[in-house]
Amino acid sequence: MRNYLQHYINGEWIDSTGNETEEVINPATEEVIGKISLGTKEDLDKAVQAAREAFPSFSQTSKEERVEMLEKIAAEYENRKQEIIDTITDELGSPVSISENVHYSMGYNHFSQAAESLKNFSFFEDRGGHFVQKDSVGVSGLITPWNFPTNQTSTKIASAFAAGSPVILKPAELTPFAAIILTEIFDKVGVPKGVFNLVNGSGSVIGDGISSHPDIDFVSFTGSGAVGQKIMENASHTIKKVALELGGKSPLVILDDADVEDAARSAVNHIANNSGQVCSAATRVLVPSSMKEAFEDAVKKVLPEYPVGDPRGDNRIGPLVSKKQWDTVQSYIEKGQEEGARLLVGGTGKPEGLETGYYAKPTVFTDVDNSMVIAQEEIFGPVTTIITYDSIDEAIEIANDTVYGLAGYVFGKDPKNLRKVAGSIRAGRVKVNDAEADFAGPFGGYKQSGIGREWGDYGIEEYLEVKTLLGFPSED
Ligand code: NAP
Ligand code: MG
Repeated sequence: MRNYLQHYINGEWIDSTGNETEEVINPATEEVIGKISLGTKEDLDKAVQAAREAFPSFSQTSKEERVEMLEKIAAEYENRKQEIIDTITDELGSPVSISENVHYSMGYNHFSQAAESLKNFSFFEDRGGHFVQKDSVGVSGLITPWNFPTNQTSTKIASAFAAGSPVILKPAELTPFAAIILTEIFDKVGVPKGVFNLVNGSGSVIGDGISSHPDIDFVSFTGSGAVGQKIMENASHTIKKVALELGGKSPLVILDDADVEDAARSAVNHIANNSGQVCSAATRVLVPSSMKEAFEDAVKKVLPEYPVGDPRGDNRIGPLVSKKQWDTVQSYIEKGQEEGARLLVGGTGKPEGLETGYYAKPTVFTDVDNSMVIAQEEIFGPVTTIITYDSIDEAIEIANDTVYGLAGYVFGKDPKNLRKVAGSIRAGRVKVNDAEADFAGPFGGYKQSGIGREWGDYGIEEYLEVKTLLGFPSED
């Protein structure tokens, strides 16, 4: 049992001022694996106070000191590798290979990338007629979702530390344990007191408290659009700077010269990875009409490469995070059938032999029209849609016919067509032929996918204010 009934405030683990707790469930076994405290507004006030007190000195630390701190964090994160992998597998249900190669690895990369980006970051620039000085934005409130317990926390924290901004983190109630390990790491390497504060609790109390707190200068949120909207509304009362990383309904455009099997594998991979609970997952697969049947056959052929089951076994797809998420996914699968889409594989219910655990069947709909609900709304499960197109211009039009703009993907050979499609998708990140990740590149959304950018130097910019200096007496 992991029972963590304290918050980390001002460099210490302290008791909650309230006595409410919340159980954490392993979604593969449906068993309770531990408990957290649900913090109160009073706990949050203490954390904000600690961060405010840390601000004057932390914001004035040198770049070199902060690089060293980030490098120490990355090294200690590596020391905790196995525990991080086990914890994420237990609380989220991701297969151990995904916990290692995606979750563990992304957290590590954000800390080490932030250190690298900071080395080359300029906080003071001579721009001819004026100077620009970049200062810490101040106390930053971080609110994170359950689907990437180390990625979304680490990118925010690493950027904030690089910028000299103290933080208060409220992780998701469903997956709070990875953040406990991060907190222990910061404590161990000697992050100055008050620079990092962890307050566990509900979105409606601590999340809401962060977005409306008069002494918090900036809120960085990742999660659903509905909560993102509330955060903006709350933040508007004190003109708080806000960064939002919301959902997506990203297109994967398959060109007519693509290898059909590779393209099908890429499409399936998007809904297998993290059981499709990924904001940047491609869940609209745009296929040339002439390739439709071959693509459908290829999907059926590659699907058995992705077994569903116990995340501790040799499986590539684990359960969904919660019963609630399972129910949501089921209702979208029903909706797709009502709308007239055809089930190519999968459907409602649990995969055979997996009655315990929130497992869903990997589901691929074909004969989908882009106006259908299953093509417009984020499902956040192992469900994808096949939509056909007849020309590259039509593919681009369909790709962009969405309120979202987080990511886009293109698969094919002709460089001219790859460039045209990649350059025309209205989204913050477009990948060609499953290119490898680069943690220096910015991540964030166009349109209703959000505001702002994370990762690397763009991520650091989020935690800064910009000052123009005119007539400034430079070096004698
Ligand atoms: P969510 O409700 O937006 O939760 C995200 C975070 O915000 C959690 O820490 C949550 O706390 C907190 N929160 C909830 N209500 C709040 C409020 N009124 N003010 C401030 N913070 C608040 O997302 P979810 O429940 O985790 O997932 C719902 C849907 O959001 C998913 O199905 C998916 O479509 C989308 N989503 C997107 C991403 C992404 O990466 N873009 C990630 C996760 C989910 P609690 O822990 O109490 O819930
Ligand atoms: Mg929620």
